[in-house]
Amino acid sequence: MNKLLIVGTVAFDAIETPFGKTDKILGGSAPYIGLSASQFNVQSAIVSVVGGDFPKSYLESIQAHQINTSAIEIIAEEKTFFWSGRYQKNMNTRDTITTDLNVLTKFNPIVPDAFKDASVVVLGNLAPANQANVISQLTNPKALIILDTMNFWMDNALNELLEVIKRVDVITINDEEARQLTCENSLVVAARKIYEMGPQFVVIKKGEHGALLFSEDKVFSAPALPLESVFDPTGAGDTFAGGFSGHLTKTNDFSFENMKRALICGSAMASFCVEEFGPKRLLNLEESALAIRLQAFKKLTQFEL
Ligand code: AMP
Repeated sequence: MNKLLIVGTVAFDAIETPFGKTDKILGGSAPYIGLSASQFNVQSAIVSVVGGDFPKSYLESIQAHQINTSAIEIIAEEKTFFWSGRYQKNMNTRDTITTDLNVLTKFNPIVPDAFKDASVVVLGNLAPANQANVISQLTNPKALIILDTMNFWMDNALNELLEVIKRVDVITINDEEARQLTCENSLVVAARKIYEMGPQFVVIKKGEHGALLFSEDKVFSAPALPLESVFDPTGAGDTFAGGFSGHLTKTNDFSFENMKRALICGSAMASFCVEEFGPKRLLNLEESALAIRLQAFKKLTQFEL
């Protein structure tokens, strides 16, 4: 079985949407990526850090999806990373209320020996210095390295982030962040500028408007599934990265044609994520759900000329 290495935050999230409010539930980029990728039956491990306040039951819920959590370090005297956000009525605009890095400031990621040769590596949303540290520990020169990031790190660690971008094969970034990173309004121009920074593939996530894949002179567009009810978009971007990387790990084919399928897999997984609060839907996904949803995407995008 091909191996997927995931590095990212494991967090407490408090979320408020027009449909309700949650207090300190399981969150962070890594659980969303891992739970989503687990639908593709890959061998995966998460490298992260939590504090002594992190419930064992949360770790067990991740392990229950065949995700190796032995490299989630527990620093007993520290508090777990905490993030809280509030969505406005249209659910597209999110205000971050709190980002308490807590234990993240002590994080020194150690990649387990068994995963140093992983075929796909997702550097989930995390401090760029930690992402760079992980790249330096990898031993497989053919590994596909996928980077995800967000405005917080552009605001707080831009130079380190630019250095990491140079070293990866794929970047996934949302539309507003692509504009912020490049100071360009057109996503096509922004994608070209990011491509010139190093990655061979640039994926721009557009929330309920789907995602775009760029490489050299090629472009592909995946829609988001039109859903009747969206409860909570938290983690949708990470879930997308999990579906995208899960498909690529399973197939071990990093061509543009296969990236197109990976983009659809990412969109399909993200469509589940938004149906319930936090990672609840991903934790309880029925076995046949992904196959059915992939068919729905096929139907949605096929037409005759
Ligand atoms: P998304 O909605 O895909 O942007 O992901 C939301 C998840 O990212 C939440 O579970 C948060 O815990 C996590 N998160 C929020 N801010 C950060 C940050 N600055 N670095 C890493 N993870 C974060």
